[in-house]
Amino acid sequence: MNCVFCKIIQGEIPTVKLYEDDLVLAFLDIGPINKGHVLVIPKEHHDGAATIPEATAGRMFRVAARLGVAAKRALGYDAFNLHLANGSAAGQVVMHAHLHMVPRGVEDGFHWNWRQLAYADGEANEVQEKLLAKFHLDEDPDGTR
Ligand code: AMP
Repeated sequence: MNCVFCKIIQGEIPTVKLYEDDLVLAFLDIGPINKGHVLVIPKEHHDGAATIPEATAGRMFRVAARLGVAAKRALGYDAFNLHLANGSAAGQVVMHAHLHMVPRGVEDGFHWNWRQLAYADGEANEVQEKLLAKFHLDEDPDGTR
């Protein structure tokens, strides 16, 4: 498989590693939003987030959050964002699931373009009904992306 992150895991592409265990690998993003921007990836290849086993997903979140704390303590940041793009329409470029830890400063000049729409009367409940009809916490890996 021609996956850049699998090649990083295999040691075929160099990277600046921060953490590694049996389930996950964390390394510096090559094009950081702020210096210290980290990617945490599952060692097993998963295109997206929905098929990652719970133990691995939990480890990814834990490692990213603890590296966020390290970025605050060691690099003087005020906060951090955790971000995962699932699918190209969501901005995913590398199709091996990865959790971003982006260290943030009060005046770092970076702004997420976060908009806020409004629900019409009854619309939120219609959305709730549709979502819950298709929500399966433990569905098998096929077709869950
Ligand atoms: P996304 O848009 O969520 O798919 O993000 C992909 C991220 O992977 C980008 O922030 C890239 O800078 C980063 N990236 C791509 N190739 C490498 C690499 N060889 N080493 C480190 N980071 C990489």
